[in-house]
Amino acid sequence: MIEFDHVHKRFGEHVVIDDLSLRIEDGEFFVLVGPSGSGKSTLLRTVNRLVHVDAGCVRVDGEDVAMRDVEALRRGIGYAIQSVGLFPHRTVAENIATVPRLLRWSEADIRARVDELIELLRLDEPGMAGRYPHTLSGGQQQRVGVARALAARPRIVLMDEPFGALDPLTRESLQGSLKAIQRDMGTTILFVTHDMDEAFGLGDRVGLMLDGGLVQVGKPLELIHNPADERVREFVGGTR
Ligand code: ADP
Ligand code: MG
Repeated sequence: MIEFDHVHKRFGEHVVIDDLSLRIEDGEFFVLVGPSGSGKSTLLRTVNRLVHVDAGCVRVDGEDVAMRDVEALRRGIGYAIQSVGLFPHRTVAENIATVPRLLRWSEADIRARVDELIELLRLDEPGMAGRYPHTLSGGQQQRVGVARALAARPRIVLMDEPFGALDPLTRESLQGSLKAIQRDMGTTILFVTHDMDEAFGLGDRVGLMLDGGLVQVGKPLELIHNPADERVREFVGGTR
């Protein structure tokens, strides 16, 4: 589904991704975890070509993303980030409808999908569809951001610390919603966080990233009970 094949990326002299290879399976919830600056966002952004690799290759469905039409590629991949990036002058419904509109869905299909997502993400306060982002709480804005990323039922969704700014309860509730939706839809999710608890709670598999490389990839319990080396033990132990 998503394949990183000997990916290298540097910014100037600074090597940010160092010969990284990884395969993410169809329908998998994969979490990249690691400290700030380890290269997680950069790696994630190579998938939708917000970052171009210097060497190696990133494949989606077996096809090198560098060979794809970039607009078509991005329409097929949901993307949600911490700073939400909702369009301030568009209503909740119009924000959620962004990609379906680009894909020329019918009005009826768009309306039905917006209603469905508003319910799935528990945004169902009266009049929510017609409200503007600045009238929402931080948690509600994040929910709209997630709804927008999922709107066109992409098979792949990239999420970069999407719940970073939320209080623990809101965060837990959103994690639950996301996991349920992901299971139902069979979506492949590549999720980035620096929070080990979040990684272990969400991930089918987790990859620990340090200094531009993957130190260990495995099921959460494998990293906890069978850390590959001292760095893994330290990171797992230190943040829990
Ligand atoms: P993470 O998401 O794990 O915190 P990033 O991928 O954002 O890490 O960044 C990894 C390293 O690359 C950091 O040292 C960061 O400063 C650097 N970096 C990221 N983007 C750029 C850029 N556009 N130009 C220069 N350096 C960058
Ligand atoms: Mg980041």
